[in-house]
Amino acid sequence: MMSTVIFSQRNYQRTLKLMGSRFDLTVVANDSATANSYMDLAVDEITRIEKLISSWDPNSRTSEINKNAGIKPVKVESELYELIKRAIGISKLTDGAFDISYASMDRIWKFDGSMKTMPSEEEIKSSVAKVGFQNIVLDPVAQTVFLKLPGMKIGFGAIGKGYAADKAKQLLMDRGVPAGIINASGDMNTWGKQPDGESWKVAITNPMNKNKVFALLPITDGAVVTSGDYERYVTFNGKRYAHIIDPRTGYPSTGIISVTVFAPKAELADALATSVFVMGKEIGLDRINQLPKVECIIIDEKGNISKSDNIEIDKL
Ligand code: AMP
Ligand code: MG
Repeated sequence: MMSTVIFSQRNYQRTLKLMGSRFDLTVVANDSATANSYMDLAVDEITRIEKLISSWDPNSRTSEINKNAGIKPVKVESELYELIKRAIGISKLTDGAFDISYASMDRIWKFDGSMKTMPSEEEIKSSVAKVGFQNIVLDPVAQTVFLKLPGMKIGFGAIGKGYAADKAKQLLMDRGVPAGIINASGDMNTWGKQPDGESWKVAITNPMNKNKVFALLPITDGAVVTSGDYERYVTFNGKRYAHIIDPRTGYPSTGIISVTVFAPKAELADALATSVFVMGKEIGLDRINQLPKVECIIIDEKGNISKSDNIEIDKL
């Protein structure tokens, strides 16, 4: 006699620290053993990417590029080469608001509570002279990356988590996982639907009042990323400085406290969320409105909410 086994799918979750940040993984599976094996794959993938792009790990390929700034080109994996190439593309798209070579500024601006006085104008000036994506030299034939100026440095703080979330999602989709969420500290990437057939939804809160959700938006096969300064910022003379640096001035951006971007890929959403901080409300919205399938919500330091043209917020 034939027996029928009815599997009932449900969500399985795991929270862990990767890339120095909290990751929440959710997969839809029939049983916990299957779910765990999927989540192990995602963790391995994210760990692999971290080893490539971390600028803290002195043994990463990225650190090798930084150590050789002003000295010589470094041959890199095609994956890293392409990521840097796309990052430069986003710099061009945002008129330099996004710039992975912002990283030399992290020698003078520290947002971990250790900075007690504002860096001097001279310090900022000499440091920002090392910032500029135009001085990241790519050689497509030799597949090398060369930072032209001594002291130049690149970092993927504004794009790496989004990239890792995209890669982990793709890997699990390729393995046939029907649905899930990769949430990298607010860089969320989803696919498929919840076991009850509903779309995944993302709750948007105002950092001024974190307990109150002001919008609940469905996301299907897409990414939503929030960049916020409410955890990492410094205040000097009553002015709040976000951990996002304007690469053109060397000063941290001010005025905006949270930017949420919706896009098909987390990598783009991540990079654009950071860029809008630097571009400011008007230019930021204008740029986002020109990009297909990209939307955003901006909250300024007074708590005002602005949104791109095609986004509907259901007031709760
Ligand atoms: P996110 O949370 O995605 O907005 O990324 C913020 C992080 O991106 C910062 O902590 C820095 O590591 C890095 N970053 C800061 N300013 C910039 C910038 N203008 N372009 C690219 N990355 C930046
Ligand atoms: Mg970002």
